[in-house]
Amino acid sequence: MNNPTEGLLVARELRCADLMPGCDFVAQGKDDSEVMRKAAEHAKSVHRMAAISMEVERKARAAIRDAGS
Ligand SMILES: [Zn+2]
Repeated sequence: MNNPTEGLLVARELRCADLMPGCDFVAQGKDDSEVMRKAAEHAKSVHRMAAISMEVERKARAAIRDAGS
């Protein structure tokens, strides 16, 4: 039996490699906002990005896709 609510926990994902070649981090979340929040934390701690610029945010949002695809 599939639990329909289970799939919603990780519905969207952002592969960091799409923005930072060579990085294997994948931010996952139930929606784009959660994915962006995790990606921003990752960018700050791993890529030393002090702030997410509009440019980077736009690229990141464009790279978010359905999880598991
Ligand atoms: Zn990364």
